[in-house]
Amino acid sequence: MPARNILVINCGSSSIKFALVNEAHSQFTLSGIAECLGHHDAVLQWQRGGEKDSLMIPNADHRAALSQLLPLVQGAAGGKLHGIGHRVVHGGERFTRAQRIDAAVLEAIRATAPLAPLHNPANLLGIEAALKLYPNLPQVAVFDTAFHQTLPEHAYRYALPEALYRQHGVRRYGFHGTSHRYVSHRAADMAGLSSGDSSWLSAHLGNGCSTCAIVNGQSRDTSMGLTPLEGLAMGTRSGDVDPNLHSHLARTLGWNLERIERLLNHESGLLGLSGLSNDMRSLEQARDQGHAGATLAIEVFCYRLAKSLAAMSCALPQLDGLIFTGGIGENSPLVRSKTVAHLKLLGLSLDKEANARCIRGVAGAIQSYGHPRVLVVPTNEERQIALDTLALLDG
Ligand code: ADP
Repeated sequence: MPARNILVINCGSSSIKFALVNEAHSQFTLSGIAECLGHHDAVLQWQRGGEKDSLMIPNADHRAALSQLLPLVQGAAGGKLHGIGHRVVHGGERFTRAQRIDAAVLEAIRATAPLAPLHNPANLLGIEAALKLYPNLPQVAVFDTAFHQTLPEHAYRYALPEALYRQHGVRRYGFHGTSHRYVSHRAADMAGLSSGDSSWLSAHLGNGCSTCAIVNGQSRDTSMGLTPLEGLAMGTRSGDVDPNLHSHLARTLGWNLERIERLLNHESGLLGLSGLSNDMRSLEQARDQGHAGATLAIEVFCYRLAKSLAAMSCALPQLDGLIFTGGIGENSPLVRSKTVAHLKLLGLSLDKEANARCIRGVAGAIQSYGHPRVLVVPTNEERQIALDTLALLDG
């Protein structure tokens, strides 16, 4: 059977990220983004081989953008597209694995929207548009939360009255599951271990950041919670704060919920601390030039990350390795070394040269000799979504 092609779609409220994945290749055949959907400056940008191109698609909505994309995808796939994999942020407790999309699955994703009011409706826009455009193609939903459905109850319950959990679904769900799952499998391969018989700490550090404890291929704890705001300091998200901060701001500054949500989701994290940027690359450059805010933001980011990893270690029977992934985890020797420096009690220590070498997609072990394994593993959520889609087609 020739290698199959899966189109992977990740829809935001005004954007569609896409990648055409061939099961035989780790590089994407075609990838890109449609941005500013619904606006006059909507644009479709793509990359195929080394070539980049773009097309203005004024006022295009999700469906119009996908229909522009169709000929490009069919061309790149040589006319042979086998299925579509959709990234869906929140699967609630209903979805513990990827699902072939049918009316019942669509309804369940819709019903989960109150838990992810920004993300699930946007994901649904993409799914509904793709179903109309490609009614005969198998389509699969892959959930960010699904991997974490193996958390034990003592890890997913908050210390709140039970009714909030039973009647309103208030619990830890966790996110970035597709990435934590992908890199933990890759890490086991790299280490010559079986993923079904090994234990990992994983740090996914992109614009959103989370840690995860993975035992024998299953998530046992993770830092994000009911929403992706909990846990680590991130690009613009605060991560953990005292829950009373909400009432404090309301009482002392008269802020309403919307203002507080904007603060915590869009004005905090690296951006809030540095007063400069949410982008780690810019902060590292500013730190080199003595910028106090950038220096502090990086210190807080690494210390909070180390604290979270130490907490996650409670869920492991042993430590086979710590994994760094995501744009920061894959590219910042500085963040990796500062974080690991706080984890001496776990016995961790880095080899300076190996740490410096693992950037821009280079995977590898970076621990110093005789210390527990630390791996840099580039993530590939699109590939994992394509593999999950193919597995369901085979099933
Ligand atoms: P997303 O979560 O949107 O997928 P990414 O995984 O691409 O984001 O990660 C984006 C983050 O990675 C940004 O903070 C960016 O500055 C950081 N990053 C990318 N390259 C480097 C680098 N060379 N050094 C430090 N940080 C980097």
